[in-house]
Amino acid sequence: MTDPIRPQPGILDIALYEGGAAHVAGVTDAIKLSSNENPFGPSDRAKDAFQRAVHKLHRYPNTDHAALRQAIGEVHGLDPARIICGVGSDEIIHFLCQAYAGPRDEVVFTEHGFLMYRISALAAGATPVSVRERERTADVDAILAACTRRTKLVFIANPNNPTGTMIGPGEIERLAASLPKQAILVLDGAYAEYVEGYDGGAELIGRRANVFMTRTFSKIYGLGGLRIGWGYGPKAIIDVLNRIRGPFNLSTAQLEAAEAAVRDQDHVDRCRAENTRLRAWLAEALAERGVPSDTSTANFILARFADEAEASACDAFLQGQGLIVRRVAGYGLPHCLRITIGDEASCRRVAHAIGQFKGQK
Ligand SMILES: *Cc1c(COP(=O)(O)O)cnc(C)c1O
Repeated sequence: MTDPIRPQPGILDIALYEGGAAHVAGVTDAIKLSSNENPFGPSDRAKDAFQRAVHKLHRYPNTDHAALRQAIGEVHGLDPARIICGVGSDEIIHFLCQAYAGPRDEVVFTEHGFLMYRISALAAGATPVSVRERERTADVDAILAACTRRTKLVFIANPNNPTGTMIGPGEIERLAASLPKQAILVLDGAYAEYVEGYDGGAELIGRRANVFMTRTFSKIYGLGGLRIGWGYGPKAIIDVLNRIRGPFNLSTAQLEAAEAAVRDQDHVDRCRAENTRLRAWLAEALAERGVPSDTSTANFILARFADEAEASACDAFLQGQGLIVRRVAGYGLPHCLRITIGDEASCRRVAHAIGQFKGQK
């Protein structure tokens, strides 16, 4: 007899998300380059705001997030009424699936896309649809060919994790304009700030009713541990998502630290500039050592090896040196390692270690 207590269909198909490893057995000062965290951490102003929040711990937080939405709106030139804040952008992705996709509906994403799209689609009872990429880059024609009457959401991270590649505004607009009428295009801009002059799709959203963007404080803002993200889109979609958002989904400490962080754009500019410089250095250093990568637009490099065995051996070698990078077999890239751009010393160490690994073979 089957157990009469059963979860909703789809739930047991969810493979548990595994975060990047943080420790190596026997190593106390390991360098973590496995979760695309900002090696410089958050703005001092964000840390001060977090500390000040300790005096308000007995008070419930604000429910409408007005001050944080206002700050985001001012900095990005967006209407605060069309912004929603969540527990990381993961929560916004979850809201979108819960609100717009159910049993028999399809949620489309690309073959090397972020694992949360599949997880949130299954959690909503919807059917995940993975579309092949071309040379580790989203292929708009393939995405359009995969869309049907049942497609409700199409997720694209631009830049994408773990490939680091992105597609241009012309391709994004062509995709938005050609989708079936009932589908929403979600542009995941977790790494948008790393691309100089890129608005994450905000301008397009101003002109279209079927495009939505998610953003996060976990990457360039260096606040992954605090869990804050946001979304921007048509007012009608924001109104729907707010109905399923818990009224107290963000704490006072989260709200106030995020507001201080977004108002410190000098910190963002410094982090972007260092990332751009070190990313170019590391990509070239690895290429010289026989390890190619696609031109990355984010804060990591997807290093390619001959095969899965070599990637696995290199990962083990790096761990032995106290360097933690990310295996990405779960993203359909078993022959690759994703390496976060750390500070200068970390970049030098990882380049040196990969050179040793290549040289000893
Ligand atoms: C890191 C990342 C996020 C951010 O998730 P949070 O929940 O905001 O921490 C979103 N999308 C992609 C593609 C990412 O790599």
